[in-house]
Amino acid sequence: MELDVLSIVAHPDDTELTCGGTVIKMAEAGYRVGVLDLTAGESGSRGNAVLRDREAARASKVMGLAHRENLGLPDAGLENLREYKLKVAQKIRDLRPRTVILPYWEGRHPDHYTTGRIGYEACFLAGLAKQPLEGRPHRPHKIIYATQYVPSLRPTFVVDITAQFEKKLKAILCYASQFSPQKDMQNLFPSGRDLRERVGSLARHFGLMIGVRFGEPFVTREVAQVDDIVKMPVKSI
Ligand SMILES: [Zn+2]
Repeated sequence: MELDVLSIVAHPDDTELTCGGTVIKMAEAGYRVGVLDLTAGESGSRGNAVLRDREAARASKVMGLAHRENLGLPDAGLENLREYKLKVAQKIRDLRPRTVILPYWEGRHPDHYTTGRIGYEACFLAGLAKQPLEGRPHRPHKIIYATQYVPSLRPTFVVDITAQFEKKLKAILCYASQFSPQKDMQNLFPSGRDLRERVGSLARHFGLMIGVRFGEPFVTREVAQVDDIVKMPVKSI
């Protein structure tokens, strides 16, 4: 199994919320796209691991994923441990993705930013020959960070997901346990029209930055190399 793109996230639904449109767009373009969920989201206020697993399977179908699996690490208990990094590194060797999408390395939820760090270090370990890992070493060509959970951050680039927006919403709505109407103590779980409004206004906000209707934001650590300033994919709007 060799993937073109692998999204590594803390919880089922993180991919759909932060980079679902981009994942769908790449799958539609014919790339092999996969998702690695580190936890089953069993500590979430709503739903349970079995239910979320079923929801994730439905969302995978909507997004056109070639592969999805869950590592079963402890939800709300992710730590940057060598044991976890090696588990993720083994998956990177097995799946051999060219591009890896990680959650941004800072944020509100510790699982999200910890996944960003575990993922980064696992990509590094996967490329080292002398590690307790099976298979040939593999280092992804590129790591990009999805920053939708930190909307105040200025992205390095935005992907136009205008044509994929409805499918993204459909994939998010597969997680009925998270987004069905219920009374919550916090306003963390929008439902129905409210969800559409929230997802839509964020996507609209980032879309406006590049002059399209809907977009998803990403950051790269590295400065981009440009060889041809006529062909470079940057528009002035
Ligand atoms: Zn999450």
